[in-house]
Amino acid sequence: MKKGAVLKTRARVREITMEADGRARGALYYDLKGDLHEQLARVVVVCANGIGTPRLLLNSKSKYFPQGLANSSGMVGKCFMIHPFRFLEGIFEERMDGYHGPFGIPAFSQQFYETDLKRGFVRGYTFLLERSFGPLHQAWGSFVNQPVPWGADHHRVMRKRFAHIVRVTILGEDLPEETNRVELSSDRKDSNGIAAPRVVYAYSENSLKMLDHGSKMARKALEAAGAVEVLDSGIIAPAFHLMGTARMGSDARNSVIDAGNHAHDVKNLFIADGSCFTTSAAVNPTSTIGALALRTADSIWEHRRDWSG
Ligand SMILES: Cc1cc2nc3c(=O)[nH]c(=O)nc-3n(C[C@H](O)[C@H](O)[C@H](O)COP(=O)(O)OP(=O)(O)OC[C@H]3O[C@@H](n4cnc5c(N)ncnc54)[C@H](O)[C@@H]3O)c2cc1C
Repeated sequence: MKKGAVLKTRARVREITMEADGRARGALYYDLKGDLHEQLARVVVVCANGIGTPRLLLNSKSKYFPQGLANSSGMVGKCFMIHPFRFLEGIFEERMDGYHGPFGIPAFSQQFYETDLKRGFVRGYTFLLERSFGPLHQAWGSFVNQPVPWGADHHRVMRKRFAHIVRVTILGEDLPEETNRVELSSDRKDSNGIAAPRVVYAYSENSLKMLDHGSKMARKALEAAGAVEVLDSGIIAPAFHLMGTARMGSDARNSVIDAGNHAHDVKNLFIADGSCFTTSAAVNPTSTIGALALRTADSIWEHRRDWSG
């Protein structure tokens, strides 16, 4: 901003507009009052994350892109990935005092990260060794959604669990599958009348087998460490990490952007968020998103002669 950037907040982009020569022209957006504006741009960078980005591209239909912007491959919105998660909490007799201090991941293991077909699934998962939270979080069921009972047994169970827990999170690698996707809702719109996204997602058999294996191994590790009881969240699908819906690739027939996050179809359009991931890996995504955003900036600079003047 010191160098002249203008940050506009509370601006909801309806669509990316196009020039007659096939370049992106800018963005049509609503301000907080609902008034429509057009922001012209020589370069457009979309970074609305794994659901917002395909939604915006699919909402940006024009005579050049009747299926949605940068979507000649038909891959915009396809291969939506989240991370398969499962939480196991070991209750120990000794106090762990996990609720003290800052939240973080003090240790992790990638023992089961790589493919071993003997396990019955491909790819693998990371174990994250984590703390527990404060008393209310504990009473409400913590990460395993198993609330401390109200009534006569409350104090006994609360004393047993609170400050006595170590959690193992299983963070699995989701596979890109075209059936998992983000598309436009046919009947739902937001308060500006823009078509809402519709997310179609189900865990694959591979992910379910992976989570099952992870749960068995995490239980074994916690019990070996001395846990007197292990609580298991079971199968949950928390969509924390949104990836894959504008995938990167060298072939414009089956991908949306190239290795520099540059849209194959539109000379001055870049996409810089988790939607460009081709696989999800079994790690938290944001450092990679940040690294790719920096590389996108380099790529914009390298291509500057394509749109200057
Ligand atoms: C509960 C939770 C826990 C998480 N924990 C971790 C973690 O421990 N480690 C980790 O690496 N990651 C974590 N993540 C993921 C992390 O938050 C995301 O990877 C990161 O925020 C992605 O950054 P981004 O800028 O690409 O997208 P976002 O932060 O999602 O930003 C996208 C922005 O685009 C805006 N937008 C969308 N559509 C439009 C539109 N049409 N017009 C205008 N604006 C629009 C959205 O409002 C949003 O502000 C977590 C996420 C959640 C939800």
